[in-house]
Amino acid sequence: MKIVMLGAPGAGKGTQAKMIASKYEIPHISTGDIFRANLKNGTELGKKAKVYMDQGLLVPDELTVDLVMDRLAQEDCKKGYILDGFPRTIPQAEALDAALTRIGEKLDYAVDVDVPDENIVTRMSGRRACTGCGATYHVVFNPSKKGDICETCGEPLVLREDDKPETVQKRLDVYHDQTQPLIEYYTKQGILKRVDGTMDMNDVFAAITDILGA
Ligand code: ADP
Ligand code: ADP
Ligand code: ZN
Repeated sequence: MKIVMLGAPGAGKGTQAKMIASKYEIPHISTGDIFRANLKNGTELGKKAKVYMDQGLLVPDELTVDLVMDRLAQEDCKKGYILDGFPRTIPQAEALDAALTRIGEKLDYAVDVDVPDENIVTRMSGRRACTGCGATYHVVFNPSKKGDICETCGEPLVLREDDKPETVQKRLDVYHDQTQPLIEYYTKQGILKRVDGTMDMNDVFAAITDILGA
């Protein structure tokens, strides 16, 4: 099964993608996580990406597309995957389609986790990310049982630099401008599925598994 997760920043794509990956035993591929790992390791890619990420802008397609294509060519992707945060632009979606067509495959679903802008700011200001393993918590909706420490790996939790309110509005604007057109793109392909992302995480997950099937 090959799935793309769509939705505004903070809509809950990552939260759902992790649950789906675990239930369907497919890799969870998050471009945001890949960029952050590069940033942490001080790679050239990380340094380039940081300039855009810090401003709430998208990393250019040239830097993003090849990275994802290399990842999708790895052995574990043969059984399918869930893409979280990619594609984020029409050219990225076209590049993905072209690559899939070349190998005689196609996406199964594009799942749009729909959350209005009003709710996004609360989601983002309360999001806490683990500096060790990348796990995501929320101070109100999904707190760590260990407070400021990750339940899984014991490393400290932080507010992401780009989750500060001044950057969130910019990211929302970028989303509406560059990413939202993908909803129409996948609707035309007949694979778009919309779920109400304002529900409790477990209810959102149930709605998604209803779509994907057992
Ligand atoms: P969110 O959790 O808000 O959806 P991500 O963790 O997916 O954010 O992405 C964080 C940042 O990484 C984005 O704001 C953007 O700068 C960069 N990024 C992630 N995925 C892409 C992509 N597919 N294309 C361009 N930039 C991306
Ligand atoms: P995205 O990957 O779309 O940027 P995340 O999965 O990181 O979004 O979720 C953003 C924040 O909102 C996180 O702090 C997460 O714990 C929280 N969250 C995710 N889904 C829900 C939900 N259904 N209800 C309330 N909070 C949620
Ligand atoms: Zn952790």
